[in-house]
Amino acid sequence: MPLTLYKKKRSFKETPEPTGGKAGGAKLRFVIQKHDASHLHYDFRLEMDGVLKSWAVPKGPSTDPTVKRLAMMVEDHPYDYRNFEGIIPKGQYGGGTVILWDEGYYEPLETATGKKEQEKILLKQLKTGSLKFRLYGEKLQGEFALVHLKGKQENAWLLIKHRDEFAATTDITKKDKSVRSGKTVKQVEKAPENIYGQTKRPAAKKTASKTVLQKKAAPAATLKKAPAVKPAVKKKVH
Ligand code: MN
Repeated sequence: MPLTLYKKKRSFKETPEPTGGKAGGAKLRFVIQKHDASHLHYDFRLEMDGVLKSWAVPKGPSTDPTVKRLAMMVEDHPYDYRNFEGIIPKGQYGGGTVILWDEGYYEPLETATGKKEQEKILLKQLKTGSLKFRLYGEKLQGEFALVHLKGKQENAWLLIKHRDEFAATTDITKKDKSVRSGKTVKQVEKAPENIYGQTKRPAAKKTASKTVLQKKAAPAATLKKAPAVKPAVKKKVH
């Protein structure tokens, strides 16, 4: 799935989400974003072929090998999306709050030398509908499988933990904080200054208004101008 579908669904003028990015690391990355949208779900994303292959897991991952979690394959996401934590404005595709629930590296179980070969194996497994890999995350570790459910819905897969030393029956989703910010979904929601898009706002403008305020001892005109910036940002947050 190319990124065309991803780009189609979003209006980048209004949302601060990443549009691309190059996968340049020596290891393959994975990320799981907890996404409180119209329905809470976990977006499980594996770097492959320069993009993030993505599955929406409604109940989130389980470390219990007897539990199979439904994972709906969705459109590829840009590599840079792995850094996104923040708020997608309501009314936009996927509107809601996103935290980086887990992240790290992953590799296929099948032995491979180097990233290129790993990707080759994974892409082949993706085609045949049976991915077997090892995660090196902060919350999730060890062997997992993603298995395509045939016959039912086209994009339905199952996420299953393999039996290994990292298997456990405790509910891993109880660990509900971001591995980057340490914040819960609620905390990110309440702190709109942590929106990814804010760092992407034209830096020149931001610095300029700040400088004006500091240097010119804030004459009336400047003070009037400054607050005008804020409501625009708040609007985005909603
Ligand atoms: Mn999502």
